[in-house]
Amino acid sequence: APRIGVLALQGDVREHLAALTVAGAQAATVRRPEELAAVDAIVIPGGESTTMSRLLTVFDLFDPLRQRLADGMPAYGSCAGMILLATTILDTRPDARHLDALDITVRRNAFGRQVESFEADLEFDGISEWSGDTMRAVFIRAPWVESISPDVEVLARVPHGPAQGRIVAVRQGNVLATSFHPEVTGDRRVHAYFVDMVRGADDPA
Ligand code: GLN
Repeated sequence: APRIGVLALQGDVREHLAALTVAGAQAATVRRPEELAAVDAIVIPGGESTTMSRLLTVFDLFDPLRQRLADGMPAYGSCAGMILLATTILDTRPDARHLDALDITVRRNAFGRQVESFEADLEFDGISEWSGDTMRAVFIRAPWVESISPDVEVLARVPHGPAQGRIVAVRQGNVLATSFHPEVTGDRRVHAYFVDMVRGADDPA
């Protein structure tokens, strides 16, 4: 089974470990550079992106993680994780750092300050078709993807309401990101999709 790390500096780490295990991965927490070196792929959980950015630096993980991503390590970022993986972030703090692994512009807290959280049933490209079912998506002070580069694939959009059509799931090569939190719903399909991506990344081209 692929060894997949969950960045465990802050955020909902336990739910991701459980979801990855159910999806067939060997899941492990990552807090130290040695732990990062031992995994094949990484999940960056939700939480608070500017705090996580600061903790990555404090724990000496920022540069090694950025390097592993530049070398092609598969990654999945949920919510704050999506923000950290992006190349361009709107409405963040000027001192916040990010990992430049996903060629998108993300807007933090995009759904508005008064909108703490909401849920929607959406079509997830590559998952909904073969499982024949939409996905319940939970958004918590979530970002949306404001724009993408041509190599980025859109996997899901907000299905209705004032933010209808906004991009909330994307993939670029080995990097996957969602604005929402599949780890809190008991739906393991996004984690299973990521575990398949990590398996595929090992295949010779
Ligand atoms: N609003 C948070 C941030 O900017 C993300 C929220 C989340 O991860 N649930 O980092």
